[in-house]
Amino acid sequence: MGYEISLTGRTVLIIGASSGLGKRFAKACVTAGARVALAARRTDRLEALVQEITAAGGTAAAVAMDVLDEASVKAAFDAAEANLGPIDTVIANAGISRAGPVVDLPIEAFDATVAVNLRGAFLTAREAGKRMIAGGSRDTGRGRVVLIASIAAQVPLSGLVAYCASKAGVQMMGRALAREWVTKGVNVNMICPGYIETEINAEWFQSEGGKRQVQSFPRKRLMHESDLDAMVLYLCSDASRAITGSVFNIDDGQVG
Ligand code: NAP
Repeated sequence: MGYEISLTGRTVLIIGASSGLGKRFAKACVTAGARVALAARRTDRLEALVQEITAAGGTAAAVAMDVLDEASVKAAFDAAEANLGPIDTVIANAGISRAGPVVDLPIEAFDATVAVNLRGAFLTAREAGKRMIAGGSRDTGRGRVVLIASIAAQVPLSGLVAYCASKAGVQMMGRALAREWVTKGVNVNMICPGYIETEINAEWFQSEGGKRQVQSFPRKRLMHESDLDAMVLYLCSDASRAITGSVFNIDDGQVG
């Protein structure tokens, strides 16, 4: 007897789909049957991914979104819905990291990290919830918001003070949103991934320090993007109807 998670009939908006994890989530959602709207600032990359998905028989649209800009977030939802119809599922995945010793960290780096990772996730989730509730999620119970936090929300990481603070904020914000929307049919859940090599950290993991860090992990390896697929699809699907306000660490035992 098998069990398959289906996103057939869902329309998923993925923010930060121009690279790394977001690109992977987009492909996984399409494979599970969803229509996908791909959002980020680098629209040339989004258009290339739309081409790839449509050539393989999927349905996708690219929309420009800068999560620093409230009007851009709203406009991106408008464009996505104009192309694909109402959005019932959102993966808030845009993120940046500004690493360095805190005594040398410019306030601009702290502000930028919090603005993209926390404020950006707030603007995204607020727009998502507003539209899902107005669209009748209270009756269908099908609204889904997945916030991509990090193990940095759980453990203090030296050199990543701003990033840790922003991701811890995302985690608690999501729990509070879940509480606020629990009777409105919008489930909000958080995934805290361990280290996966993408553009956000490639330079570090190709350095000697990064290679030493990988050797310090119990399994002496980085994770693969595909390690998040099943959890993302589950949290986006009807199967997760009873899960809201939950935080899922997927870290290959990297932080214990
Ligand atoms: P990535 O390849 O650098 O992707 C980051 C994405 O965020 C890009 O698509 C980027 O798109 C988007 N983004 C950045 N600023 C944005 C803005 N102002 N408006 C809209 N989109 C913006 O890194 P990644 O590893 O896939 O990161 C994805 C998420 O996973 C992040 O939230 C990150 O913190 C989290 N995470 C990653 C790891 C890891 O080890 N890789 C671990 C835990 C958590 P544009 O530049 O085109 O706008």
